[in-house]
Amino acid sequence: MPDDFNLNCPIPLGNHKTVQLAHGGGGRLMRQLIEGLFLPAFDAQRVQAPPHDSAVLEIDSNRLAFTTDTFVVSPLFFPGGDIGKLAVFGTVNDLAMAGAKPAYLSAGFVLEEGLEMETLRRIVASMCRAAAEVDVRIVTGDTKVVDRGKGDGIFINTAGIGTVPEGIEISPARVAPGDAVLVSGDLGRHGIAVMSVREGLAFEGALESDCASLAGLVDAMLAAGIEIHCLRDLTRGGLAAALAEIAEHARVGIEIKEAAIPVAQPVRSACELLGLDPLYVANEGRLVAFVPTESADRVLEIMQSHPAAHGPAIIGTVTHEHRGIVELRGPLGGGRILDLLSGEQMPRIC
Ligand code: MG
Repeated sequence: MPDDFNLNCPIPLGNHKTVQLAHGGGGRLMRQLIEGLFLPAFDAQRVQAPPHDSAVLEIDSNRLAFTTDTFVVSPLFFPGGDIGKLAVFGTVNDLAMAGAKPAYLSAGFVLEEGLEMETLRRIVASMCRAAAEVDVRIVTGDTKVVDRGKGDGIFINTAGIGTVPEGIEISPARVAPGDAVLVSGDLGRHGIAVMSVREGLAFEGALESDCASLAGLVDAMLAAGIEIHCLRDLTRGGLAAALAEIAEHARVGIEIKEAAIPVAQPVRSACELLGLDPLYVANEGRLVAFVPTESADRVLEIMQSHPAAHGPAIIGTVTHEHRGIVELRGPLGGGRILDLLSGEQMPRIC
């Protein structure tokens, strides 16, 4: 970096002397940080507007998707997964959301002094299994150790690259009025599975994280010749945050039918108990798809016959009206706006 490097950009972060966004994950505060500081400083805006799960880049006329994510979930092991599986599938899914075939990952580890070797072995074994399942290779990495008390066991960063087949353009910019909106399964399992361990809560029925690869499901849709406009995995901030961002960036209205949104009863009960809205709870194996209305039934069929989808549904449509806004329509016709939360309702979830 040159000595005179200067972030000649607006930084609308108020007068904070320190970063006070500790739990600002998928909400408005984190958006301020990304849009006010990182995007103007780096090249992301020039290659990728509007923002997407992966950057799609051209190198010697090959199109590559490139993405990175850092995992700080607590606890490290939870029903249905662990930080290692999450770190592989999270990055694989971000590549898949750009229509890319995931190929290679990197893995960076921040280990706290005193971490049990057996814990590390279990996590690495889990990463190996996840990578083998989706046929991606972990080919480079890094390890740093921090003093006892200066980390929380282990944090993992993964980055991934994949190739984007010719003719595939999946991006929030392509979302258009008339598109149907589908989800690939019931919502909220990951967030509730993690919270239940953390809070020591026992819920009726098995409640496991939905942590899984979505690459095969995207493959199946593309193989069927579906013209997919946009995909997003419903991670931090859940369905609500994903829709709010897409409506804003695509300058469209989105109307969702509340009664059509699949939420399993144990998740619903847990959310009531914890005071959470399942539409904002994180998922790690669910996506939302925007496709032309005439393809909606076909996409639903494909999802219904794919093992990575669990109770998929058509939940709404994209409209000309109320651009930039997501409206949730209740069973009696009343509506409410789904907006980004100002903070994170569940920190350290991924
Ligand atoms: Mg994502």
